[in-house]
Amino acid sequence: MPLDPDDMRERVCEIHGIPLKYGRMPIYYGLMGPPPGWGEVRTNNFPHANSYIMGGCVMDIDNDPEKGRAYYCPECRMAEQAYIDAGGE
Ligand SMILES: [Zn+2]
Repeated sequence: MPLDPDDMRERVCEIHGIPLKYGRMPIYYGLMGPPPGWGEVRTNNFPHANSYIMGGCVMDIDNDPEKGRAYYCPECRMAEQAYIDAGGE
């Protein structure tokens, strides 16, 4: 998915119908991949959570802090957290 700011301007979450916010996100290094089925759950329920990015997938992030930023939907983040808190069910 491209992260070109011009390309993502004025984006709205198709699930929650609110504008996406642009901000910083934590970067995790060396974690295991998401559990099976996570991608589908995320796509269907909180596609714009963007609550973290995997450092291993990003080159030169230490030299370019802008790469630690992305658009996200706060409602998606809450939905994601609720999903995690519920034990992934
Ligand atoms: Zn959303």
